[in-house]
Amino acid sequence: MLVVIALGGNAILQRGEPLEAENQKRNIETAAKAIAKVAREHTVVLTHGNGPQVGLLALQNEAYPDVSNYPLDVLGAETQGMIGYEFEKALRNELPDAHIAGLFTQTVVDTQDPAFSSPDKFVGPIYSQEQATELARTKGYFMKADGEFFRRVVPSPMPKSIVELNSIKQLVDNGTMVICTGGGGVPVARDESGKWQGVEAVVDKDRASTVLAIDLKADALLVLTDVEGVAINWGKPDQKTIKTATPEQMEEHGFAAGSMGPKVEAANAFVRSGGKIGGIGSLAQALEIVNGQAGTVIRADHNGEVDYH
Ligand code: ADP
Ligand code: MG
Repeated sequence: MLVVIALGGNAILQRGEPLEAENQKRNIETAAKAIAKVAREHTVVLTHGNGPQVGLLALQNEAYPDVSNYPLDVLGAETQGMIGYEFEKALRNELPDAHIAGLFTQTVVDTQDPAFSSPDKFVGPIYSQEQATELARTKGYFMKADGEFFRRVVPSPMPKSIVELNSIKQLVDNGTMVICTGGGGVPVARDESGKWQGVEAVVDKDRASTVLAIDLKADALLVLTDVEGVAINWGKPDQKTIKTATPEQMEEHGFAAGSMGPKVEAANAFVRSGGKIGGIGSLAQALEIVNGQAGTVIRADHNGEVDYH
């Protein structure tokens, strides 16, 4: 099977964990072991988030006032190099005989997307409420609650297509494991004269991975994160994790915008476009999710009621 694995930024850098290079490297090495298990049995295309990392680069930029801040699209491109590099190395150590290539990737967006007037994509570290208020005042950041903490939010327009799709296809057809669409791909759009321009936004990697998985005609899209699956009544005493459901059954519930919502939408959209398996769950159980033994698996051909774990 062709399996597109979309890995959360939080699996690379856990919530609240210091943004140290060493922490990222260690988490990526752990992630690579789980991804390698899938890659030994299936063809894998790996995408990854960049929320914490792009936020870190933005802060590092501001620490050097002699040079004005680099735009978000450039920072997004930097994170693809930073994260893709660690993944390529770690995967090569797990799969010494595999062909593996990290590919810089851009995602086409519409500059008229309504997201530009309501930013909702979390980037960077967590802050207390006081810190958040201060950042909003001094830097003009939009800040939003993420659980009990606060984080910066930026616009997250819908991805239309992947600029490098044909190159990715060719590599996949030649048996190469491709690492691409990092951070949802760097958002770009054509200007009035038809020239490509970067766009100041962060595309949701779950949405971009859906476009990629559909356009590659993948069999499975795995959205991997730091929870075992999609729960109903999330955060409440009667919380329970969905095992198998159809896209229609998933839509009977609402899921949090900016975190679980886009993952469910991604898996649903993929399955509705003919994909066999839309899986959501924990990184450590990647192969088990493909085999229907763990996580939340969305399938068009699921019969009967929703199954729970
Ligand atoms: P990632 O970086 O992996 O994309 P996100 O923070 O965007 O991570 O999304 C995963 C998070 O979604 C979980 O860690 C959990 O806190 C949150 N979440 C919100 N609603 C739910 C839900 N219904 N079921 C499970 N997790 C949920
Ligand atoms: Mg996310």
